Amino acid sequence: MNDMKTALVTGANKGIGFAIAQGLGALGFRVAIGARDDIRRKEAVEQLRADGIDAFGVALDVTSDESVAAAAETVEQTAAGLDVLVNNAGIAGRIDDGAQDPTTLDLDVLREVLETNVFGVVRVTNAMLPLLRRSATPRIVNLSSTMGSLTLQTGPILAAYAPSKSMLNSITAVYARQFADTNVIVNAACPGYVATDFNGFNGLRTPQEGAAIAIRLATLSDDGPRGGFFNDEGTVPW
Ligand code: NDP
Repeated sequence: MNDMKTALVTGANKGIGFAIAQGLGALGFRVAIGARDDIRRKEAVEQLRADGIDAFGVALDVTSDESVAAAAETVEQTAAGLDVLVNNAGIAGRIDDGAQDPTTLDLDVLREVLETNVFGVVRVTNAMLPLLRRSATPRIVNLSSTMGSLTLQTGPILAAYAPSKSMLNSITAVYARQFADTNVIVNAACPGYVATDFNGFNGLRTPQEGAAIAIRLATLSDDGPRGGFFNDEGTVPW
């Protein structure tokens, strides 16, 4: 009988997602590496295993109903349930030729970004919920951004990416209300400006630093906050 807790991280083959998997693994979680590319997923799992982490790969494209349904089956067959879901996979979307200037916004870019950053989170969350409900301490963390904060209005003007994270914060709050009388705790995390492929490695923080808030929210006690948006310093206005 294995009483290890299991955590699924989407987009865990690199960047902040990989660091979240690494951090949860170091805390003793069995980590499911959700990644859409077979080679990148295998390499990430091998690297984590070499570090002594109990990791397994889950083929997962968050934009595909079929892929997400198959991923839920893989998690069920491998781990029987799920304690933590980290919705980390996200894209910035194309920015050339005014694609994310609101006055020339490319609607295909908007659709693509929403499909991954918002619909993908709902798709994965709802597919994994039956497994999460088997856990005594189900936790869901959605990787958001202060660029989605309507109060802060930070960063460059990205008319697809920023609204996608605003909507993700809103979706997080709505799920939290739905889960109010249950043990499922959901929150949104802002990792800060992290050096990853996402920004051509221009970010100022390491993936490990960016992962810390997501790991904290993934391991909240039962009386932890619900439906909030947090960074390392506390609540982020949204
Ligand atoms: P990276 O680009 O380094 O990693 C993104 C990950 O998401 C990759 O594993 C990528 O997989 C995966 N992904 C993208 N689309 C899909 C999909 N359809 N299905 C499955 N996986 C997918 O970005 P970061 O690590 O920087 O970003 C992680 C999260 O943190 C994102 O949600 C981002 O919005 C958020 N964030 C990042 C900030 C930063 O400064 N870096 C700041 C604020 C928020 P693949 O390798 O196959 O492309």
